[in-house]
Amino acid sequence: MEDRAEKMETLLRDILVELGENPDREGLVRSPKRIAAALAFLTSGYNVDVDKLVNGACFTQETTSMVILRDIEFYSLCEHHMLPFFGRCHIGYLPSGHIFGVSKLARLVDVFARRLQLQERLTEQISRAIMDAIQPVGVGVMIEAQHLCMMMRGVEKQHAVMTTSSLLGSFRENPATRQEFLALINRPQP
Ligand SMILES: [Zn+2]
Repeated sequence: MEDRAEKMETLLRDILVELGENPDREGLVRSPKRIAAALAFLTSGYNVDVDKLVNGACFTQETTSMVILRDIEFYSLCEHHMLPFFGRCHIGYLPSGHIFGVSKLARLVDVFARRLQLQERLTEQISRAIMDAIQPVGVGVMIEAQHLCMMMRGVEKQHAVMTTSSLLGSFRENPATRQEFLALINRPQP
């Protein structure tokens, strides 16, 4: 582990040199260490055992009405540029015998967000994990995000918000369920 951190610091120092910077000046001297630590945190989702998280998150409960958790903020890194994309994730499901602990739902978002990601894949990984964990009648996940790789560089569009959704089970098959989900996540803030 120590080895890996040291190797990262050396590589990051080399990057600073290649960028034309002086890695020994006061402001930068500890930056390779800080960047390595930041990258380790931002990709810490790889080290989380999803099965273990999910196992501790499921509770038996005989309710059948839709559960919604919306506006879960998240920060991720796009795998193409390693620049942040961030926004909000909305989750809904129709339970059938089991519910997913609400804080664990938010934690699940972080576990998949703290990796090198694509927004599309992030959305699907969350919905699939919920489906596998509690086998609900249906799941819907919607993510709205802004991508710094598009805002700071490339097409330089500052206000574009990308929306992705993954609908499984009744959320895909039943238009009324889908409508209920969309209406609940689109309601104005309380
Ligand atoms: Zn990108």
